[in-house]
Amino acid sequence: MNQLIEHIRGIVGPGGILTGEDVRSRSDGWPPVGGCQARALVRPATTAEVSAVLRLCHEAGQSVVTHGGLTGLVGGARTGTGDLVLSLERMTGIGRVDNVNRTLTVEAGAPLQKVQEAAEDAGFLFPLDLGARGSCTIGGNISTNAGGNSVIRYGMTREQVLGVEAVLADGTVISSMKDVIKNNTGYDLKQLFVGSEGTLGIVTRAVLRLRPRPRSRDTALLAIESFDKVAAFLRAMDSALGGTLSAFEVMWNDFYRLIVADDGAHGQPLDGSHAFYVLLEATGGHEESDHQRFEEALEEAFAAGLIADAVIAQSRQQREDLWAIRDDVEVMMTKLYPPMTFDISLSIPLLDGYVQEVRAGLAERWPDSRLVTFGHLGDGNIHLVLTVGSLDAEDVHGVEEIVYGALGRRGGVISAEHGIGLEKRTYLHHSRSPEEIALMQALKTALDPKNILNPGKIL
Ligand SMILES: Cc1cc2nc3c(=O)[nH]c(=O)nc-3n(C[C@H](O)[C@H](O)[C@H](O)COP(=O)(O)OP(=O)(O)OC[C@H]3O[C@@H](n4cnc5c(N)ncnc54)[C@H](O)[C@@H]3O)c2cc1C
Repeated sequence: MNQLIEHIRGIVGPGGILTGEDVRSRSDGWPPVGGCQARALVRPATTAEVSAVLRLCHEAGQSVVTHGGLTGLVGGARTGTGDLVLSLERMTGIGRVDNVNRTLTVEAGAPLQKVQEAAEDAGFLFPLDLGARGSCTIGGNISTNAGGNSVIRYGMTREQVLGVEAVLADGTVISSMKDVIKNNTGYDLKQLFVGSEGTLGIVTRAVLRLRPRPRSRDTALLAIESFDKVAAFLRAMDSALGGTLSAFEVMWNDFYRLIVADDGAHGQPLDGSHAFYVLLEATGGHEESDHQRFEEALEEAFAAGLIADAVIAQSRQQREDLWAIRDDVEVMMTKLYPPMTFDISLSIPLLDGYVQEVRAGLAERWPDSRLVTFGHLGDGNIHLVLTVGSLDAEDVHGVEEIVYGALGRRGGVISAEHGIGLEKRTYLHHSRSPEEIALMQALKTALDPKNILNPGKIL
C-alpha cells in the first residue's frame, strides 16, 4: 500500500497528497461527524493526473471516493479507513464565457457560486441555485444531479450540462465536451455521470449551458391558510405569470415558526400564525411590464381568497432577506438535533396528507419528536427535517419505516434531488423495480468491474 501512495505522490507531487493527521483533520461529509477516515487524500491538478491516479488504483484494487464541496446530504462522500479520497479542490478553473453558443467551460472543482458570478459578469445566468452554493462544486452538482430553487423554470442539473469529461475507473478519459444543445449521436454518454454519485466515473470538466440574464426579478412572501389553496395558488401563478414563474418554495408553519417566528430572527416579515408560507419569484425580460403582471397576479389571488397576507420585496436586499429565510438550513439543523433529513417527491395533491400521516406516526412513537417541512413544492418535492432525540439504529430504522412506508403507499420517490448515497441505499427498492436495479448493477459492473469507485454507495 505504501508503494501505491509513493507512486501516486510521484504523479501529483508532494503537495498533491495528504496522509495521517492531515487527512483526519478534514471532514468527509455534511453535517461533519468526526474527521475523514482514509488512507490518503489525493489532490490532482489536471485530468491527466486524475487518469494516472485511477489507473494505479485500478491495478491495485484501491477504492476511491471523490470529494467536491462535501455538502451532499446522503453520505455519498463518506469514507472508511481503507479508502483513498480524490479531491477536486485544485481543479477549480473557470473558462471564458462563449457569448454566441452561450456556454461556459469549467473544471469540476469550481464552486457553484463562482460559476454563477462568472456567468453574471458576462451578462448571462447559470440557473442552478441552491443553499449550499458557496461551498458545493459543479462536479458535485453534476454527480448528484442537484435540483434547487429554479427547477420549475430551468430543470435540474441534467438540463444545464451540454458536455462532460469524466475519467473511468481504469483511467480512461471519456471526453464528451460538446457545446451544442442537440446531439442525437447514439447513447447520451454524459448522462451516465449525471446523478451517479461518483460510482461510474470522476467528472473532471463540463460545458455548462447559460441562459439570458433576467432583466426583471420579482419576489414575494405569501401567507396561505390551507394546502388546497397552496395548490390552487401554484396553478394560478403558473398561468398568470406567463412562463416567468421561476421559484415556488413552500414552508409549512412548523418551518416558518422555527426559523423566523420563535426567536424573531429574519425580522419576521409575516406573523407566524399562518398554515403555509410561499416564496414566489418570477424573472423575465421587461422590468416594468413584468412587475405590473406580478402585482396583478397577486391581486387576483387575493381577490380569489387564495392568499391571506403578502410581502413584496422592494429592493435587492429585501429579496435576499426573504430568500435567507428559505435557505437557513444550518440553523434548522442545530435546532433539531440530532437531525434526520428526507427529500421526497410525490404527486402534489397527495403531499399534505402524506405529511400529516408522517407527523402522526412520529408523534405516536416519539411524543417529543419535532418535524419541519418545506421545499420546492412547484416540483412536487419537499424536505422533511426531524429529530426524535437520537440517532440509534433502531430509532433511525423506525423513522425511515414511517417516512418511506407512507411514501410507498402513495407511489412517491425516496430521493427527489439529494441522491441515494449511503443513507437511502436500503430503501432504493421503494422507488425502483428489481429490473431497474439489476440494470444499474450491470452498468456499474461494465464501467467499474473491480468496484473501486465509491463502493457501497447507491447500490
Ligand atoms: C445547505 C444545503 C442546501 C442544499 N440544497 C440543495 C438543494 O436545494 N437541491 C439539491 O439538489 N441539493 C441540495 N443540497 C445537497 C446537494 O447535493 C449538494 O449541495 C451539492 O450538489 C453537492 O455538491 P458537492 O460539491 O458538495 O459534492 P460532495 O458532497 O463533495 O459529493 C456529493 C457526491 O458526489 C460525488 N462527487 C463529488 N464530486 C464529484 C466529481 N467531480 N466526480 C464524481 N463524483 C463526484 C461524491 O463522491 C458524493 O457521492 C444542499 C446541501 C446543503 C448543505
